[in-house]
Amino acid sequence: MSTLEANKQIKSNKLYKPVKIAVAKGDGIGPEIMNATLRILSAAGAHIEPEFIELGEKVYLSGNTSGIDDASWEAVNNNKVIFKAPITTPQGKGYKSLNVTLRKSLGLFANIRPVQALTPYVPSHFPAMDVVVIRENEEDLYAGIEHRQTQDVYQCLKLITRPGCERIVRYAFEYAKAYGRKKVTCMLKDNIMKITDGLFHKVFDEIAVEYPEIQNETQIIDIGSARLANQPENYDVIVTANLYGDIISDIAAEIGGSVGMCGSANIGKNVAMFEAIHGSAPDIAGKNIANPSGLINAAVSMLAHIGQPEIGDKVKNAWLVTLEQGYHTADIYREGVSKERLGTKEFADHVITNL
Ligand code: NAD
Repeated sequence: MSTLEANKQIKSNKLYKPVKIAVAKGDGIGPEIMNATLRILSAAGAHIEPEFIELGEKVYLSGNTSGIDDASWEAVNNNKVIFKAPITTPQGKGYKSLNVTLRKSLGLFANIRPVQALTPYVPSHFPAMDVVVIRENEEDLYAGIEHRQTQDVYQCLKLITRPGCERIVRYAFEYAKAYGRKKVTCMLKDNIMKITDGLFHKVFDEIAVEYPEIQNETQIIDIGSARLANQPENYDVIVTANLYGDIISDIAAEIGGSVGMCGSANIGKNVAMFEAIHGSAPDIAGKNIANPSGLINAAVSMLAHIGQPEIGDKVKNAWLVTLEQGYHTADIYREGVSKERLGTKEFADHVITNL
């Protein structure tokens, strides 16, 4: 049976209660990819009630250095689920990264970034690549402890806590167990940062023994990321600290096909946030050429999170069929492989046709 036929058979008899979600259209390519994705979700029959909130550039430029106003905070706290397009952080002193603020204020401790090559439909040098990067999301050099010491000396402190390590490492093993993954690799620089990264490594070893059915290994992040870039098929789940995870998940996404393809989930105890892994891409904003796939994949994870996995599967299959048919946005378009180069809106139209 083709994927398309299989998709037509995904029918849900469940009666879903509509779930309210806070939706931010973001900056740059944000509104284009968010509008495309919301059209797909609506056509797929997702039972969601978006409450639109303003985040990012407009809020920053109104003089609010946090990038989020009180009304948006209220919507986020009431809805507990945020669906967010990328935002632009203005350059310069005083503007705080809204992404870091959201992750820290809402306790979004785990950032999950899956990358799967879709060869032959989307060219990748690594057809067998199927990696999930699980990144600690609140601590490390992103803890926001950065200041000037003297005229010429500036300092950014790396914060690593035992509860933080335990939470993320356990999450990684539980994720591997839930999704039938075989191996968890921990990547760190504990040969140099013996106390901070050393603690993360120690906690990894302690928790790994509780999961004898899952293989485990630890690699130094520099050689680990070099191997990831060269032999990604040797990795399954990777758990790592905040900064390393930010970097290696972009490398993984790019070698998997395009940074525009991957979605991510930010999971906390009470709130979860879903977004694409890429930024607001100001260089291509307003041109209807951005790939909405990262946000579409984030939406699929969100639908599973809010208890509508069948609808998520339907969207995912329609997206895969569109790629299989060779309808590609510019970032993944290749002569001889792709059938047609499509704009953001037209790509979404094809996904809707395949629902
Ligand atoms: P970027 O991810 O926006 O862009 C990097 C490159 O990838 C660009 O060439 C861009 O055109 C391309 N690209 C990104 N997404 C694409 C898509 N969906 N389709 C096709 N091509 C795509 O990174 P950047 O240029 O370093 O950052 C731009 C802005 O985004 C900055 O202000 C940064 O702070 C912000 N940012 C936001 C988030 C977020 O909101 N989660 C994440 C990262 C960066």
